[in-house]
Amino acid sequence: MNTKAKILLVYTGGTIGMSKDFETGALKAFDFSKLTYYTPELKQLDCEIASISFVNPIDSSNMNPHFWAKIALIIEDNYATFDGFVVLHGSDTMSYTASALSFMLKNLSKPVILTGSQLPIGDLRTDAKENLITAIQMASLRENGQAVIQEVCLYFEYKLFRGNRTTKVNAEHFKAFSSPNYPSLAESGVHLKWNSDFFLPKTLSSKLIVQSVLDTNVVIVKLFPGISEKVLKAILSIPTLKGVILETYGSGNATTEKWFLELLQTAIHNGLHIVNVTQCSGGSVQMGHYETSTEMKKLGVISGKDITTEAAVTKLMYLLGKNTAPQDFKNLFETSLRGEMI
Ligand code: ASP
Repeated sequence: MNTKAKILLVYTGGTIGMSKDFETGALKAFDFSKLTYYTPELKQLDCEIASISFVNPIDSSNMNPHFWAKIALIIEDNYATFDGFVVLHGSDTMSYTASALSFMLKNLSKPVILTGSQLPIGDLRTDAKENLITAIQMASLRENGQAVIQEVCLYFEYKLFRGNRTTKVNAEHFKAFSSPNYPSLAESGVHLKWNSDFFLPKTLSSKLIVQSVLDTNVVIVKLFPGISEKVLKAILSIPTLKGVILETYGSGNATTEKWFLELLQTAIHNGLHIVNVTQCSGGSVQMGHYETSTEMKKLGVISGKDITTEAAVTKLMYLLGKNTAPQDFKNLFETSLRGEMI
């Protein structure tokens, strides 16, 4: 009996599979078959690898919920046949995709690991090979017949993170991602070191539930000293708008000017969901800790706690997409669904 793990590589695009256009010199996606040509090492791995590629691979700056649904459906269609999934993706929006997939794939009991690279796989100094090979190794690990990792992760530059805790922090360094509010799940050195205390609890139900519908009637508003009433009012008056991620200062603080609080009050009264997320790269929203957040708490602004903006905006799309009842919305948002917040 063949006991090798079966891994499906899902190639969506990104630098990892790009080469320079002869005429313009710009990086663009190449034919996926070249990926294995550049990485003959894949044959040495102790697993069976199959691959599936977007017909037209994309730079991840073109990523959107339509493509997220496509990735989720590929995983659903192949869930019974494969033991793990490695999604090759551009780094620019990888944290958004990892966050979105974590919500869209409920009861996940197999690994879904996103990875990519800062340099194309054909480049002499590429970081792609290590990222790809270790991501596949991690996805293929099993213990007592069960996958070691049972959640959506992101692997980059020797670290495995919970995907919905990550954010892209550097466009130059190979260490492009950080997980400011949650420890890494594994580290790759001479040995693979697992921080299994930080894994999501194993799912009891084996039935994967995929929600491919997301609602994009949302916006991210980053506060800054000088933001005007006119601008905020115009945004909050968009007729189809249903949810706002409000990036506030520090531990969730904002101006206490009357016009600001009145705009929030009217918006919430009109059924808008407003989520308070901090602009800081680490730490948590704590409404009521300062006077500058007490009023927002009283108005019913939702606390994003220590969630990343990437996870907040995709969670908003997910909860709106599943037609969450208005009276349950705040409570559900403030509850950790996939380990995305405390
Ligand atoms: N622009 C590229 C992308 O996100 C960057 C990368 O892959 O790292 O697709």
